[in-house]
Amino acid sequence: MIISIASGKGGTGKTLVATSLALSLEDNIQFLDCDVEEPNGHIFLKPVIDSQEPVNVLIPNVNEARCTLCGKCAEVCAFNAIAVLPKKVLVFPELCHGCGACSYLCPDGAINEIGKSVGIVETGYSGQIEFIHGKLTVGEAMAPPIIREVKGHSDPGKTVIIDIPPGTSCPVVEAVRGSDFCLLVTEPTPFGLHDMSLAVEVIRKLGIPCGVVLNRDSVGDNKVEEYCNAEGIPILLHIPLDIEIARLYSRGVTLVEGMPQWIPAFRTLFQDISQIVSRQYSERNTR
Ligand code: SF4
Ligand code: SF4
Repeated sequence: MIISIASGKGGTGKTLVATSLALSLEDNIQFLDCDVEEPNGHIFLKPVIDSQEPVNVLIPNVNEARCTLCGKCAEVCAFNAIAVLPKKVLVFPELCHGCGACSYLCPDGAINEIGKSVGIVETGYSGQIEFIHGKLTVGEAMAPPIIREVKGHSDPGKTVIIDIPPGTSCPVVEAVRGSDFCLLVTEPTPFGLHDMSLAVEVIRKLGIPCGVVLNRDSVGDNKVEEYCNAEGIPILLHIPLDIEIARLYSRGVTLVEGMPQWIPAFRTLFQDISQIVSRQYSERNTR
């Protein structure tokens, strides 16, 4: 089973929930940190890294001697990453998604592809937890190729917990796609509600069931709960605003290691998710 831990915005406690959920479960767990622009799962899980691989994307390289300046490559590029000027073709590597369309469709065979490093993927273990994370090179913009590489390590025989990047853009879709369940971590504030409702739209478009963890509960208002009730989204865990939890987090200590009394709550959270996922599958199979 693949469980994604997401949030409409940063700073809601997504990694706090993801790491504590992973540590609360029995063995056979994988933790995938797909928040490749700012991975921080390693700060809490402290894995021993035993391998590192570069991630390359293929970008076009134009052979000026063969190019007839026909303009086809710029026409087919959906990302404006290649421009044909009166005397030259310009490639913008930071915009290129490495889709290969320009080289495939160039009528004169004037484009070949060259590898460009955009980051790394590291793997290791944190106790019994298999740990994989990606790191986007500073200054690079293309997170999805690294996210795909991290997800390529998913083991279908294990419970996979994915720390999703914050927000609702391309990297979020790439990271959450294919999950069996998405847990949205939010806080009871107008910002929390606004950004979570955007995330709900994305998750629903992908056809993935979701539930909510309400972090820093007891501050703000009850609008998130009203929204969840109206939308039929279960709130599966409440974590109160607690200075001790904040202190642990600031020291890089997970909630369940610093306060082991939380372990049963995270195990119940996992059981609730498992029940929702199996119910969903049996409903699909009986349709
Ligand atoms: S499609 Fe090929 S020949 Fe046409 S402008 Fe681009 S590189 Fe040149
Ligand atoms: S590989 Fe794709 S994204 Fe990159 S320049 Fe060519 S068409 Fe555009």
